Amino acid sequence: MTDLRELYQELILDHYKSPRNAGSLEDATHAAHGDNPLCGDRLALFVRMKDGRIEDLRFKGSGCAISTASASLMTEAVKGRSKADVEALFEKFHAKVTGEGAGGEDLGKLEVFSGVSEFPVRVKCATLAWHTLKAAIEGHKDTVSTE
Ligand code: ZN
Repeated sequence: MTDLRELYQELILDHYKSPRNAGSLEDATHAAHGDNPLCGDRLALFVRMKDGRIEDLRFKGSGCAISTASASLMTEAVKGRSKADVEALFEKFHAKVTGEGAGGEDLGKLEVFSGVSEFPVRVKCATLAWHTLKAAIEGHKDTVSTE
């Protein structure tokens, strides 16, 4: 766990302890479950789409600090965005956490996950919420697994 300590920056810990947009959404139009068996992270995501944009979203889950903070920060980052915007942002985020996007653009608060690229096993923790969001807004009902 010592190696991971550097990953647990202040922002990640803050979002892990006090997740933003936690809970469920009674009038959700889209929902999906995500599962990362490698780490034991699970989450349920509820999304309300309006006029092609994410009007609101909430998540419930249990998982490690990285997966919880990533879900929390993601909900803040995608609110108000269109499906195409979310998919484009996910691609950039994925490139960032896998280290495949050399340089790349500044993703604001999501930059805290750039250190994850040094810990491949944690990439799935960081991307679980995003995979789940993608499944939700594409209307897939099944549980998403990172495996
Ligand atoms: Zn995890």
